[in-house]
Amino acid sequence: AKDQGRDTFRFYSEHLTRQAFQNVLIDSALREAVSRQEFRLAFQPQVNTDNGSLLGLEVLLRWHHLTLGTVSPSQFIPQAERTGLIRDIGHWVLEQSCLQGSRWIAEGLQFGHLAVNVSAPQFRAEDFVAQVRKVLADTEFPPEKLELELTESVLVHDTEKLIENMHELRALGVMFAIDDFGTGYSSLSYLKRMPIDRLKLDKSFVDHIVSDDSDRIIAGAVLALGKAMGLPVIAEGIEQEAQARVLQSLGCKHFQGYLYGRPMYGPRIEVVLRAHL
Ligand code: C2E
Ligand code: CA
Ligand code: CA
Ligand code: CA
Repeated sequence: AKDQGRDTFRFYSEHLTRQAFQNVLIDSALREAVSRQEFRLAFQPQVNTDNGSLLGLEVLLRWHHLTLGTVSPSQFIPQAERTGLIRDIGHWVLEQSCLQGSRWIAEGLQFGHLAVNVSAPQFRAEDFVAQVRKVLADTEFPPEKLELELTESVLVHDTEKLIENMHELRALGVMFAIDDFGTGYSSLSYLKRMPIDRLKLDKSFVDHIVSDDSDRIIAGAVLALGKAMGLPVIAEGIEQEAQARVLQSLGCKHFQGYLYGRPMYGPRIEVVLRAHL
């Protein structure tokens, strides 16, 4: 048993070392990724199953590096948040999203809104509001078609400045969704003070909703909260019809997940947009 403990420890420390090494590689490669044009945007449909309409598209970042290969955002985003690089990356994502959106509008394609993920360090940057204003002006993207997805980690530091920034962006027409709702901090008091337009029920409550009573209870509570506060709730990570049916029975109308469409690059999502015309 003792030996086993030591092996476990050795495995653990080797794993840590490899992870640390990997992070150094990712960090230096990440610094070049924008200029080397290694990033691409993928777009995932958000649908209203009541009438089959397209509500919007969530923008998801993809990174293909020559030797590291395809690196998952759940690996490189947290890393970029630690180093602060997320601010440049996030700016690129916002700008490219709005550029793409404006091109689609010019082509007569309808996509509802574009939902762009914004990290806490990015949102808290001194010049974030000015940055959004400038991107909207430069790209001529209609602000009311932009939705920013914030996680509860952004909202937990609900300083005067943060709330002021949200109201300023809201005054332009920009909307806010709370991403991964229910997984962050238990305080809901920010819902009173902040201009929130939508809650996104986290995938972790959806995965086992067909078989797990507590997931069903939590999802039901989030949907009831949304209804009481007049906030639409979108359920994410729907893979099976059965999951959608349970959520529909709880009053959910808005969905996102592989069942309705995977994240797709420009050319493929355009096929979907044309089919919706
Ligand atoms: P998220 O914002 O919660 O995005 C949803 C994730 O679930 C995406 O993973 C999406 O591809 C995946 N997904 C959607 N439907 C399904 C489904 O039916 N089944 C399964 N198994 N997965 C599904 P992805 O693209 O790997 O992104 C992971 C996370 O990385 C995102 O989670 C978000 O937190 C972050 N991220 C991605 N792009 C950006 C970005 O441009 N900026 C920032 N700050 N974060 C980003
Ligand atoms: Ca998101
Ligand atoms: Ca999410
Ligand atoms: Ca998530």
